[in-house]
Amino acid sequence: MTQLLDRPVTAAGDIDLVGISRRFGETTALDAIDLHIPAGSLTAIVGPSGCGKSTLLRILAGLDTPSSGVVQVAGESVASRPLGQRDVAMVFQDYALYPHMTVERNISFGLRLARRHDRTTGPSHDEIAVRVDQVARLLGLTEVLGRRPGQLSGGQRQRVALARAIIRRPGVLLLDEPLSALDVALRASARAEILRLHREIGATLVLVTHDQHEALSMASHLVVMDRGRVVQSGSPQEVFRRPASVFVAGFVGSPAMNLTRSADGWTGWRPTDARIVPDGTGDVVGPGDRVVIGVVDVCEFTGSSQELRCRTEAALEHPAGLSFTLVQREGERWLAPGDPVVAVVPAASVHSFDADGRRLDD
Ligand code: ATP
Repeated sequence: MTQLLDRPVTAAGDIDLVGISRRFGETTALDAIDLHIPAGSLTAIVGPSGCGKSTLLRILAGLDTPSSGVVQVAGESVASRPLGQRDVAMVFQDYALYPHMTVERNISFGLRLARRHDRTTGPSHDEIAVRVDQVARLLGLTEVLGRRPGQLSGGQRQRVALARAIIRRPGVLLLDEPLSALDVALRASARAEILRLHREIGATLVLVTHDQHEALSMASHLVVMDRGRVVQSGSPQEVFRRPASVFVAGFVGSPAMNLTRSADGWTGWRPTDARIVPDGTGDVVGPGDRVVIGVVDVCEFTGSSQELRCRTEAALEHPAGLSFTLVQREGERWLAPGDPVVAVVPAASVHSFDADGRRLDD
């Protein structure tokens, strides 16, 4: 499994999307997107259903053409380059394997096609066999090369789809919801596998997901989209720590940020940033710290911690009113529904947004 390809792939250079729009009749799927994807990065594009992620990926793959704007690789437009010369491979959400072909035939399909197209420049039978053997070992598929897709587990099918894409050694590998067909247990190992693959093949990886947890945990570069626009891009840490808007603040991070609206704008704090104070506040409150007082409503035990959904004091008089989430770590008495709770949010962990939802600099 640690076998490297005989020749590392060269990441194709930085990818830049400049003013990319895509309209389908009345629908604007992408709205003047400017985006920088660093060469060699693992870039995750995340956003709610219908925000334009797949459309963006298809344009990167050259499978769709933007209504306006250009895609540049290493500073040059790829618009005039035929699909076969774009150095890009895409793994589709449903893997799109050929059911009647063995794993070996599925993996080698693209190379065999290249050979059929041109016997002088295409790979020889021997070279194809060597490369199938390499990627099969890289992805742990050697034992199942003779099987058909119907005889594989979900995780194995996903690895065959990856193998089929990387055997051509693309500089850019595009993955559309690569983990969505897997169950929870397999997802964790498949995540690790993609990270290892990225490290070993050296290509630029762009993956699309609606799962912000997946995006945060895997990406070196995170892009958040909403309604056809890029609303923030940066390292996962930057996006998590300094969300650019109320939308990003609410979308990225689990449990979600607690957000309260006032006449002037929005205030937010992450459940994991609040400190539960066992008995009142005493002298632990610093200048600018917030004290949150409420009653525990629902407890969700997650193993090493407990998520508490609470109502604020005000909500006691207005049951439909404000609620917030806290995270209680092991070590103290678990709180139970009906228990009063006091928590302190350090001043540095309070996020402020204006009335339009834009971050106010702190
Ligand atoms: P999901 O997470 O549900 O897959 P997405 O973020 O990938 O969603 P897209 O599939 O890119 O979103 O779609 C963006 C918008 O463009 C949607 O409103 C969708 O209905 C529309 N759209 C996408 N493809 C077409 C098409 N071929 N014809 C018409 N409308 C389309």
